[in-house]
Amino acid sequence: MTDITTHQASRKRLLIALSITCSFMVIQLVAAYFANSLAVFADAGHLFVHNSTLFIAILASSIAFTWRATLTMALTRRSWLGA
Ligand SMILES: [Zn+2]
Repeated sequence: MTDITTHQASRKRLLIALSITCSFMVIQLVAAYFANSLAVFADAGHLFVHNSTLFIAILASSIAFTWRATLTMALTRRSWLGA
C-alpha cells in the first residue's frame, strides 16, 4: 500500500512545478506583448500545454487519493462481511 506522506510529497512537487511553469508562462505572455514577438507567444502556448498536463496529473492524484479512502473502507467492510 502506498504511504500517504509519499503521496502528499508528490502532490507538493507537482504543485511547485505547476506554479513555476505558470509564472514563466505569464512572464512570456507579457514579454511577447511588449516585444511584439510571435515566437515568444508561441512558446507561451507551449508552456500552456505543459501546465495543462501538470494540472491533469494533480487532478488524477486527487481522484486517486479520494478513491483510495473509499476503496479501503469498502474492502474493510468486505472483510467484516466475510468474517
Ligand atoms: Zn515542452
